[in-house]
Amino acid sequence: MMKFNLHTHTKRCNHANGEDREYVEAAIAAGMEVLGFADHCPQFFPDTDYYSFFRMHPEQALEYDESVRALQKEYAADIQILLGFETEYYPKTFDALMAFVRPLHLDYMIMGQHFVGNEYDEGSYYAAEEGKREDYLRHYVRQVTEGLATGAFTYLAHPDIVWYCGGEEEYRRQSEALCRFAKEHHIPLEFNMLGYVNGRSYPNPAFWQVAAAVGNEVVIGYDAHDPKALRNDSAYADCLRLLDGYGIQPISFEEIILRNEKL
Ligand SMILES: [Zn+2]
Ligand SMILES: [Zn+2]
Repeated sequence: MMKFNLHTHTKRCNHANGEDREYVEAAIAAGMEVLGFADHCPQFFPDTDYYSFFRMHPEQALEYDESVRALQKEYAADIQILLGFETEYYPKTFDALMAFVRPLHLDYMIMGQHFVGNEYDEGSYYAAEEGKREDYLRHYVRQVTEGLATGAFTYLAHPDIVWYCGGEEEYRRQSEALCRFAKEHHIPLEFNMLGYVNGRSYPNPAFWQVAAAVGNEVVIGYDAHDPKALRNDSAYADCLRLLDGYGIQPISFEEIILRNEKL
C-alpha cells in the first residue's frame, strides 16, 4: 500500500524544524503518494493577552498558505500536496476559527485536542497529563465528539492522547463511546507515530483494542515536526506491525473522505 501522511507540521509552530520544501523532498524520498501539511492552527482567544507559544499566529497563515500552494504546483509531478491545519475544538471560539480559515480554502483539517475545556480559561487542562480524573476523561470524549459532529474534520489525531491511569473499566467505556461515534460518522482515528517514536503514553494499547473491536477506520499519522521524521521507515513498519497485532489494517488514502465542504 502506498504511504501517505496528513499530519505534517512546519517551523511556524515554534516547535518544528526545517523548511517546507525539506518536508516535501523527504516525503518524496520516502515514497509517499500524498503529503498533507497540517500545522497547528491559529486560535482566537477572547478577552485575554494569552497566546499559545506552540502554534502559528494568525498573521502567519497567509504565508503558510502561499508556501504550501507554491510547493503543490512545483512538485505536482512527484507528489500530491495538501494544505490543512491541525486544530483544537474549543466550542466558544470555533466560529471565529472557521471564519478565519474559510478564505484559505484548505483541503482539510484534522482535530488534535491537546487541551480539554480550552487553554486560556480556568478549569481547562492539558489532555496528555497523567491523571486519574474520570471527569477529565469524560469531558475529553464529550468535547471531541461534539467537535467531530461539526463535520469540519477529516480525521481525529491521537484519539488516545488522554493519559488516564484510573480504572480500566471507565477507560474502556469512554474509549468505546468515542470509537463508536467515529465509526458511525466514518471519521478515521489516527495511530500517532510521533507518540510511538517518543515513547509517550499514546498509542495506548487499551484504546486500540477497543478500536479494533469496534472496527474503526485507522490512519497512521507521522505527526512530523522534522523532515527526517518522514524518512523513519522502521517506525512506520513498527506501527503497521503493532496495528496488525490488534487486527487493524489501516485504510488507504483513497478511502479517506476529505471533509472540506465546510471549510
Ligand atoms: Zn506539535
Ligand atoms: Zn500534530
